[in-house]
Amino acid sequence: MPVLNTTFAPKGVDQSLLLPVALRRTAIKPVAGQCSCGERRPLSVVLGVRSKLRPQFEGRWHCRRGCLHDTVKTAVTREFRGGVAGESRMRHRVPLGLILQTRGVITQRELKDALVMQERTGERLGDVLVRHFRVQEGKIAAALAAQWNAPLWHMEKMPDHRLLRIAPLQILQSAGMVPVRIDSNCIHLASTQGIDSTLAFALERMHRTDVECGIASNSVVEKLWLSAEAENARSVEEVLCQDMAEISRRLARTIEQLQPIESRAVRVGRRMWLRAWLEPAALNRGPLHQEDVVDYLFTLPASRPSFASAGVAAA
Ligand SMILES: [Zn+2]
Repeated sequence: MPVLNTTFAPKGVDQSLLLPVALRRTAIKPVAGQCSCGERRPLSVVLGVRSKLRPQFEGRWHCRRGCLHDTVKTAVTREFRGGVAGESRMRHRVPLGLILQTRGVITQRELKDALVMQERTGERLGDVLVRHFRVQEGKIAAALAAQWNAPLWHMEKMPDHRLLRIAPLQILQSAGMVPVRIDSNCIHLASTQGIDSTLAFALERMHRTDVECGIASNSVVEKLWLSAEAENARSVEEVLCQDMAEISRRLARTIEQLQPIESRAVRVGRRMWLRAWLEPAALNRGPLHQEDVVDYLFTLPASRPSFASAGVAAA
């Protein structure tokens, strides 16, 4: 089983805040380019009077407000295609209790009692078994890893809580997943309950890197959350939007105001996450760097079942 070494060579430079070489290579360089409307870069840039083209969204410069709004609208429509429903974690998985019983960790009788208790308290089955049936936490994690066909990560040390900077805290919290390591070209995410592939997919696109998901013991992840809360880590104000049209509008306006050197938007559940890099250096320093990097969340109301009203079929 892979062992995650979560120590970041602390000698001298703070390695954890640097972008690994492979990531640095793949980081998007601001394009000299052309606007989506065909408009060429302005003469001031060609002549070197102005060095940077702003604002950039998804690697592209936009010459005027209308062009930016068009690109943003296309991006928002793309992100919400298919709607936000139907992202169930539990589809087609062998039940956790059955795996534990097959492995001889619990008896059929214990499973029955635990399920009754789970029903009554609303706790997760794994928690019930650890708390009331003296099942070792490691056994639960191993069974979950089997259930999800995911690696089981033994962490020798507590992960650095600064890793939580890779995304707004709310996004990580709703997915129930935490980053436990970033190496040369991969973000490792750990969960204690199951894999949320929408988060992995969003991070992959936001940071242009691979994301690997695994299962970790509850106590390690809990401690990481507590340290994050103590540090008041990257929680971001959420802008509540009525529909996709409003998200597009507000997102574009925000980019317009920020005039970033790069910005990207990805959806996680009902939240659209915008990250904007205000200076070229910020973009090159990697996902943990906070200076000149801002996050915004544009969120649809929880009760909204479909997006048909905004003109997109929830297929
Ligand atoms: Zn244009």
